[in-house]
Amino acid sequence: MGPFDVVVIGAGPAGYAAAIRCAQLGLSTACIDSALDDEGNPTLGGTCLNWGCIPSKALLDASHHFAQARDGFSQMGIEVGSPTIDVAQMMRRKEEVVDKLTGGVAALFKGNGVTSLAGFGKLLSGGRVEFTDHAGETTLIEAANVVLAPGSVPIEIPPAPTDGESIVDSTGALAFDSVPQRLGVIGAGVIGLELGSVWSRLGSEVVVLEALDTFLPMADRRIARDAERAFRSQGLDIRLGTRVVSAAVEDGVVRVGYQEGEEDKSLEVDRLIVAVGRRPYTEGLLAEDSGVNLDERGFLYVNDLCATDVPHVYAVGDVVRGPMLAHKGTEEGVMVAERIADQKSLVNYECVPSVIYTHPEVAWVGKTEEELKADGDEYTVGTFSFAANGRALAANDTVGLVKVIADAETDRIRGVHIVGPSASELIAQAVVAMEFGACAEDIGLTMFAHPTLSEAMHEAALGVNGHAIHMINRKRK
Ligand code: FAD
Ligand code: NAD
Repeated sequence: MGPFDVVVIGAGPAGYAAAIRCAQLGLSTACIDSALDDEGNPTLGGTCLNWGCIPSKALLDASHHFAQARDGFSQMGIEVGSPTIDVAQMMRRKEEVVDKLTGGVAALFKGNGVTSLAGFGKLLSGGRVEFTDHAGETTLIEAANVVLAPGSVPIEIPPAPTDGESIVDSTGALAFDSVPQRLGVIGAGVIGLELGSVWSRLGSEVVVLEALDTFLPMADRRIARDAERAFRSQGLDIRLGTRVVSAAVEDGVVRVGYQEGEEDKSLEVDRLIVAVGRRPYTEGLLAEDSGVNLDERGFLYVNDLCATDVPHVYAVGDVVRGPMLAHKGTEEGVMVAERIADQKSLVNYECVPSVIYTHPEVAWVGKTEEELKADGDEYTVGTFSFAANGRALAANDTVGLVKVIADAETDRIRGVHIVGPSASELIAQAVVAMEFGACAEDIGLTMFAHPTLSEAMHEAALGVNGHAIHMINRKRK
């Protein structure tokens, strides 16, 4: 088959973006993906669209509405009685959203002229790709360039092997057929908090077992502290510094053994989610003589431009170093496509936003205060609480704050950290500002519509230089 200018292996957000951009740039492009949906039909969009970002957000939004109807409406004078949840309907709607978006990728492939191949891709030497379709038939494809985007899979831990029923990974936790009365979660990371929140809002008693002593260590300390307080007050029983040693299923009950300090403890739950991270997925991807190397943690080794050690072979997305985030992979896919077309594109790894879609949401970009301190960099901080923001009060959604950190000398923004309503949307303003090298003063000089949550960002930026209007500014030296 072929020859093609570019063959992409993997049609997740990294691979499909690479394929579409290559085709837009006039390169003949094929994209191979092996994923099948629950009915056994090929599906595009990878983890993100099928088992990740999108289905989890569909359940997060549905469960948030449910919790609002149960706990929030009456404060606004809306009486709806005691709402009930139809889990099957919630799941059907989630599937509809997924189908719309995966079908959208197929339409984009068609519209842009990407040849979509359903099956497994393997990189051979000399830039050739072996394609095996779902019937087991193998074809050799000649490619001038290859982009590897096979993504990642959940990490399994020996004390708690998943059985797809009582002990599940994130994919299983997105498809429960009922609300478990008692739910255990191993890992207080992004998935543990998001999926723990979904089922907690729907009525599960949720216990989260986290190995580390620190909650959300990658986040700014102040933001992590406020987020932890908010999640605990919602009923998430987060147990830090705990080490799971066993998990056994008996009569549909999961007995989890764990250690807290020196003490042996146990927990009984109806279902257990294992959410301890993901690992790069490279099984069967590389022929022995492909020439592509892995790093010591099993990621495909690439340079800053996502080039592997083999000329004309690139790798993007979760399978390479850096945060495992859909948007990071998409930007890498686009960069590689443009580089193949001789353009000078780059990814700015300093400006990758992180979001946790709990309620309140948590979002940040750039450096935390602790990182700057460790680097010995001088900085100034401005914060503004949503409790003093008119729109947040009007919406009865006042937990959290915006924190802007700027260089003490140049005023250039080094990081923005938010816990609060719509943090996922608000953080985009900070990303744009940082991409353009903005100072805190630049945001301060910008006019923001009133009343909006965005005004909290405005005030926090003004606060950096002691100019906030709607709070008392800290005295400066
Ligand atoms: P993937 O999306 O994993 O796609 C890789 C594709 O390649 C898959 O379809 C796979 O079947 C296919 N493949 C693998 N090997 C081969 C082969 N040899 N031949 C053919 N096909 C192959 N990220 C965010 O940014 N925001 C979120 O809100 C978010 N939520 C998430 C929620 C959950 C529950 C999970 C699990 C993840 C979430 N993520 C989120 C992470 C996000 O899904 C990943 O970062 C993203 O999907 C990675 O994209 P990718 O293209 O590198 O790989
Ligand atoms: P994670 O790395 O975010 O969190 C895993 C947590 O499990 C960590 O806190 C870790 O200390 C803990 N842990 C590890 N081993 C443990 C053990 N044996 N016992 C108890 N705790 C243990 O990983 P995740 O939540 O599984 O998510 C995987 C990836 O998917 C992440 O890299 C994330 O970027 C991505 N993701 C992103 C989003 C988002 O952007 N909103 C949502 C979901 C997933």
